Amino acid sequence: MKVGFIGLGRMGAGMAASLLRAGHDIVVYNRTSSKVKVLVERGARGATRVADACQGDAVITMLADDGAVEGVAFGENGVVGSLGKGAIHISMSTISVALSKRLTAAHMNAEQRFVAAPVFGRPDAAAAAKLFIVTAGAPEALDACSALFAAMGQKTLSIGDEPPAANLVKLSGNFLSATVIEALGEAMALVGKAGVDPHRYLDLLTSTLFTAPLYRTYGELIAEQRFEPAGFAAPLGHKDIRLALAAAEALRVPMPFANVLHDRFLTLLAQGGEALDWSAIGHLAAKDSGQATAR
Ligand code: NAP
Repeated sequence: MKVGFIGLGRMGAGMAASLLRAGHDIVVYNRTSSKVKVLVERGARGATRVADACQGDAVITMLADDGAVEGVAFGENGVVGSLGKGAIHISMSTISVALSKRLTAAHMNAEQRFVAAPVFGRPDAAAAAKLFIVTAGAPEALDACSALFAAMGQKTLSIGDEPPAANLVKLSGNFLSATVIEALGEAMALVGKAGVDPHRYLDLLTSTLFTAPLYRTYGELIAEQRFEPAGFAAPLGHKDIRLALAAAEALRVPMPFANVLHDRFLTLLAQGGEALDWSAIGHLAAKDSGQATAR
């Protein structure tokens, strides 16, 4: 399949490389052009404009946030203006439900197809083609993209025909992940202050009732205070809680925990955590408790 790939950040670089390994014909574009070079060395063709990445059967966007996707999709020579009739925009970034609705309508008006396919998994999973991909869109469009999803992920799960539903599901998942990080941080601060070894504590949790991968991944990062380099940057985590709250507001669903998490991210960012991994909110409880080892 001839595919454009826009956004070669922590996630996109690994995903584009997975598509190349699977034999797809890829044209890559990134705002900062130095990141294009790495993929070109691996066999991709480089594009210097968004429009040049929109000449194939499909174009994937994997960008930071709503602002980035809006600029690339609706800007001059953007995706909506450049994609051919019947071609597919596959939006894999974590964006708002509202923007996903806008994109669905814009692509329909332009006689193009739109699929939302946000992902679960960090950059190491992206590089290893082990992502979990949540898709929504017209069934024939999802079928047309299935080989691409298989090349990037270990599992693809369809949520239905309406693209914004996949974005809502993704936001709900990140809300759940952030609650786990905050709860782990508080529990580890509690036992840590009493002198319990954090690794022994985590071994106990993850070998008994708390066996989900999330507890192991984030528990280790918190235990080792290993928040740099960021796999998923704190401002993006903050963005996801904000977007979950916006969706909750629109649907009139009170989410008190989400409001607490929003404040935790604000605290982290206010204290200079901009460059840290989002799991650094799991360190705030130890800091608040005045533990000597807390940086
Ligand atoms: P990242 O490393 O910060 O990369 C962001 C990408 O967006 C870069 O290619 C960046 O270009 C581009 N970009 C940012 N602002 C732009 C703008 N205004 N115009 C054009 N391009 C712009 O982020 P990431 O970690 O790969 O995340 C990408 C998306 O995946 C986000 O929506 C995130 O929430 C989601 N996600 C991330 C993870 C994770 O663990 N990291 C997991 C699941 C989902 P430059 O290179 O020029 O800055």
